[in-house]
Amino acid sequence: MAKIAFIGLGNMGGPMAANLAKAQHHVVAFDLSDAAVSAAVEKGAHKASSAAEAVKGAEIVVTMLPAGKHVREVYEKDVLPNVAKGTLLIDCSTIDVESARHVAALAEKAGMDMVDAPVSGGVGGATAGTLTFMVGGSEASFAKARPILEKMGKNIVLAGTSGGGQAAKICNNMILGISMIAVSEAFMLAKRLGLDAQKLFDVASTASGQCWSLTNYCPVPGPVPASPANRDYQPGFTAAMMLKDLMLAQQAANAAGASTPLGAEAAQLFSLFVNSGNGGKDFSGIVKMLDGK
Ligand code: NAD
Repeated sequence: MAKIAFIGLGNMGGPMAANLAKAQHHVVAFDLSDAAVSAAVEKGAHKASSAAEAVKGAEIVVTMLPAGKHVREVYEKDVLPNVAKGTLLIDCSTIDVESARHVAALAEKAGMDMVDAPVSGGVGGATAGTLTFMVGGSEASFAKARPILEKMGKNIVLAGTSGGGQAAKICNNMILGISMIAVSEAFMLAKRLGLDAQKLFDVASTASGQCWSLTNYCPVPGPVPASPANRDYQPGFTAAMMLKDLMLAQQAANAAGASTPLGAEAAQLFSLFVNSGNGGKDFSGIVKMLDGK
């Protein structure tokens, strides 16, 4: 049993902290929202009144925060000045590669082990403890983090050195954003050509057009009964989250000098979709915009 400080108890962090408490770890929880802290306490965590208080005496710190600026602020102001040397720091937020590397470098300088460990699997995966973790850091830090991550996820991958987890996450989600648009465009073209959606699915799902966006998450109702298209695009994975990840990919591509024209176009289209009031819809709902609706 380890003493774990958990900071950021939102849609994802709440259930993740609950799974650590369920695994008999001593979880000390903090969030800016009192309601989120109370919910965590109900699931077996112990309340802290500040991030600084939460991390005092912790062997491990886990953070699940919205974006890079929150992660920088929490580590620089609250975590690093208050933890003992050798504490293991695990940031599970999805943030820009630069912030991940910046914070990890500060941590290393202060004598801590740090990994970036963004997730995929959504709130369902966080609740069920079946998340995928893409980890960036040293092999030694990964070995230390693994038993903790295993209490919250199923598939734990060392993607590379510091920032490597974030890089894997945004590259994967850039494929996803682009492929969802490609699949949606194909269904809208088929519709105008008088080709039945199920027929296109039957052909493409067993031909070279096959991909996850088609076979697991089909953006039109019918062919894949579990996909959000069958429940008016209730998320799932929101369009706002997809836009966030596509913007992170563009930021990284610009900084690294990588050419990603389709990634840029996908970011523009999702931006249009989100700014028309669809940020809370599932990202596959972009098919409606492409249909002119
Ligand atoms: P959320 O907004 O529900 O939760 C974030 C929490 O952080 C909030 O409760 C907020 O009060 C808290 N917070 C913000 N600043 C803080 C601070 N300084 N100190 C303490 N607490 C603070 O977001 P979420 O959906 O849980 O997502 C968290 C991260 O996980 C994001 O980076 C997101 O991109 C990523 N992610 C989310 C999903 C998903 O499906 N929701 C899937 C994969 C990855």
